Amino acid sequence: MLAQVGESTHNYVTRLRTQGAKCNFDNYNLDQAINYVVANGIPKAMTLSEILEESGKDPTIRALEDAIAKNDWTDKLTEPFKHVRGELTSKRGLVLRGSQIVMPQTLQRRTMQLAHETHLGMVKTKALLRGKVWWPTINKDVEKAIRQCIPCASLDTRKQANPVNMSEMKGPWEVIHVDACGPFPSGDYVLGIIDAGSRWPEAFVVKTINTDTVTTLIEGCITTHRIPAVIVSDNGPQFRAKEFAQFCEEWGIKHNKVTPYHPQANGEIERFFATMSKALPAMHTEGKDWRRQLGKLLMHYRNTPHSMTGETPAKLLMGRNIKVKLPQVSHDLEDTQVTCWDVAHKRDKREKEKLKLRTDNRNKSKLAKLRPTDQVLLKQTKKDKLSNNYDPKPWTVSERRGDSAILQ
Ligand SMILES: [Zn+2]
Repeated sequence: MLAQVGESTHNYVTRLRTQGAKCNFDNYNLDQAINYVVANGIPKAMTLSEILEESGKDPTIRALEDAIAKNDWTDKLTEPFKHVRGELTSKRGLVLRGSQIVMPQTLQRRTMQLAHETHLGMVKTKALLRGKVWWPTINKDVEKAIRQCIPCASLDTRKQANPVNMSEMKGPWEVIHVDACGPFPSGDYVLGIIDAGSRWPEAFVVKTINTDTVTTLIEGCITTHRIPAVIVSDNGPQFRAKEFAQFCEEWGIKHNKVTPYHPQANGEIERFFATMSKALPAMHTEGKDWRRQLGKLLMHYRNTPHSMTGETPAKLLMGRNIKVKLPQVSHDLEDTQVTCWDVAHKRDKREKEKLKLRTDNRNKSKLAKLRPTDQVLLKQTKKDKLSNNYDPKPWTVSERRGDSAILQ
């Protein structure tokens, strides 16, 4: 079969255009903060002038400006803001809580729509908003909006808990996980590549998943980011091929194969695929072309703080966040990359410990008692009624690493 690489989302992402609003606004970097226009973007990105206009009309925002100026919080409209009054500032028609814009009521709904445009789950949608905007009932409102989101509701699948991989958090693009997902009803596959450290994902829509396709796409990522020390994949035929081994050797990369039914070993990418598998059909339900939406999904994923590191993949890998359609007062370049890696590293460790404790208790760790030199057969997905449950070729366990096994 001939490899044919479909329209890569990478190209799509580079086609996105930013359009900075040029306005001087004291010391706030507002031309950076607002106005992100994405090709075919619906709902429309929000502009600063809109926020200013709606803020000017919003009685609550005006009451807040008054209260801040006079330090008088007796107006009933300001009641829900009293508990954070120490963090509130006001500048020419805009009220901020720290670096978050306090959104006027009329724009709150659209703000939530923008954040949930790619149907990321509750936690990620909230995290995306948190860095940029605020209003007193934002959490409750987002929860309600997502519960009522029909595309999301039609796809509600509870993720099952996997045992936790307790390995140390890796540096940027040091260890990458590769996996394929599909076929989708269109016949396409998605090749996902994710950085185990920063959690930065890449995803490509392809017609076939063979060694040639896979190595071409991995090579593209390697030349952009860096040569990783390790590639982790499952035992799919495209990764077992001699050509894949040659590719790794040529680049000096170690290849770790993990058992497919130990998904925790490839946990990071499973997690990305889980997010993707939920979001893409939801967008499809809305009549959007999922192949094009994948680019936006990647943008949101890269720009949303990861629950394990507390930091966005973009910040960790690129040293800055990508601007999305949501408005934000930007302090992106304030921290050095080193500091945010430090913080992310500590938090990742803490979160893994917490997660492990929880999962171990729940699962009572029903892991196969595999030892080095054991021979194993790999379970495989039944392709049709005639295929076996197990791949007949036996593998040897060369190493146990936490909850996963390295096979040869
Ligand atoms: Zn949704």
